[in-house]
Amino acid sequence: MIIPSFKIEDIKKFMQAVDGLYDVVRIVDPSECKVISDASEADRGNEDAEYCHARWGRGKRCLDCASYRAAQSGMIQEKAEISGDEAYKVVAVPLILDDETGRRQYCLELIRKVSEGDVISEDEYTGGADRMEFREVIDTLTGISNWEGFKDAAMEYLSNATDKKSILIRANIKDFKLVNQLYGRSRGNDILYSMAGMCRELAGAKGVYGRIMSDHFMILMAEEDFDEEALKKLAQKVVDRQQFGIYKVHIQFGLYPITDRREDISIMCDKAQIALKAIESDHPVAMNRYRDTMILDRLYSSEVISGFEEALQKDQMSIFLQPQNDRDGKLLSAEALVRWNHPEQGIVPPDRFIRVLENAGLIHELDTYVWEKTVIQLANWTGTVKENVPLSVNISPKDMIYVDIEKTFADLVRKYDVSPDRLNLEITESAVMADPEGCIELVKRLQNRGFKVEIDDFGTGYSSLNLLKDLQANVIKIDRAFLKSIEQEKRSEIILNHIISMANELDMSVITEGVETKKQLDMMSDMGCKMFQGFYFSKPIPIMEFEAKYFETE
Ligand code: C2E
Ligand code: CA
Ligand code: CA
Repeated sequence: MIIPSFKIEDIKKFMQAVDGLYDVVRIVDPSECKVISDASEADRGNEDAEYCHARWGRGKRCLDCASYRAAQSGMIQEKAEISGDEAYKVVAVPLILDDETGRRQYCLELIRKVSEGDVISEDEYTGGADRMEFREVIDTLTGISNWEGFKDAAMEYLSNATDKKSILIRANIKDFKLVNQLYGRSRGNDILYSMAGMCRELAGAKGVYGRIMSDHFMILMAEEDFDEEALKKLAQKVVDRQQFGIYKVHIQFGLYPITDRREDISIMCDKAQIALKAIESDHPVAMNRYRDTMILDRLYSSEVISGFEEALQKDQMSIFLQPQNDRDGKLLSAEALVRWNHPEQGIVPPDRFIRVLENAGLIHELDTYVWEKTVIQLANWTGTVKENVPLSVNISPKDMIYVDIEKTFADLVRKYDVSPDRLNLEITESAVMADPEGCIELVKRLQNRGFKVEIDDFGTGYSSLNLLKDLQANVIKIDRAFLKSIEQEKRSEIILNHIISMANELDMSVITEGVETKKQLDMMSDMGCKMFQGFYFSKPIPIMEFEAKYFETE
């Protein structure tokens, strides 16, 4: 049942045109029992008349409100009313009004005085209204379609769009629950209004859209009318408008280009959701297109997640160490890298599960575990020659959301009585870029407590040079991608040369990561780099092997 939609001006014209044919022509809001607009406008200003049953007795919903039934069923309903000595016939037509403030579901009531003989038995619908559930098609908060309304409209749209390819877009606000908790519901509602406005602006008259649940919005339109860049710009406007303090709204889109118009609309929405869930980017506006393989990825992710807790309990997570050497191979320090000793799959490298855990909001559980193991290792080395080998650990940007980094590390070194200068903390450049001010503060606080901070994967971001200016890290770790590019491009070599000499002047050490060949080692060494980490010297290896390799004479 599709409820027709009108512009307010058009419906007013219509109401005036038929006014003479009826005693009362008005629009009511059946959920509130209120008169929205009266054709004759005779009742304007009369507060009592605001209630649609003011004529029949105010204070309660009519037992059998025709408009209520009409809105619920999506079909025209009739009924009889007796008021005093007069009998009336009420015809209720469900409709949607569409104006600049949004779309709302109402009913048009056409009421005419009839002679007693014409009155349909009053009892015909008695008790109907309170038994029936009101079938809303409009989301009362934002005024756009709700799930029911969107589903109806989408089905109709697809049955008409036989010659065009359509695309379904699902929009979601990341961590919306958190927004509500931290900033209150009214802030949350503000964001939802902006999102509804964004849908309206993108699809306009060309498509259909709705808020299908809490912070999930859907848009369905022709693929040829869909402009990805335009949507990104609209979303960015919402992000800019809804920034409070350091918090920025993150809007994510899952796109599902429809391949089979007859597919169930709920399944289409699920596929858009799968695309959305597979987003890995931390950018405030991120988009992802559905692929069939995503279902497999999802299965893989759920397997990782379901095995993870057990892995921690059964101590299946271990650390490997990769040495950091000077150019002659002398050991200077090492990086702790996690490995999953999976009962069936053997040793699983972190690339296979870190992302999944980050997306699932579980990475801090792994990281705090790895950090503690690493500090325990340092404590085991206390009082031996190995005491001079600092270890570095990785901090995921997601860790900062869930744990107090400073306190966690301070507690750990205190608990195991390890000097903080033996523990180096690696923060990726992308984490710093995501929240520069927060990170600059954090780095200072960690350094004040005696930890050394390293900027990991340096050179992969866009403003690496700016970062050097603002963030006084102890070490920068040049990403292995940079090393690859200098072999092909002179420009990269020039930039890298500058980075290294600037870092040296600013009193920061430089580690080159991913050194695999003698040629790379020489080249980087000539540029002034003094520390290297890479397969040329060693892969990450189990701790026992590491100890045997570097300290066998002990
Ligand atoms: P990363 O922090 O950049 O660590 C260096 C990665 O580069 C390691 O991969 C290492 O094996 C690899 N690598 C080192 N030298 C070479 C080389 O010469 N050639 C090549 N091709 N690769 C080299 P790994 O151990 O697989 O770790 C991958 C990533 O997973 C790490 O990149 C880090 O981002 C993440 N990771 C590892 N352990 C942890 C952890 O405990 N917590 C978190 N949050 N992330 C971790
Ligand atoms: Ca690292
Ligand atoms: Ca790295």
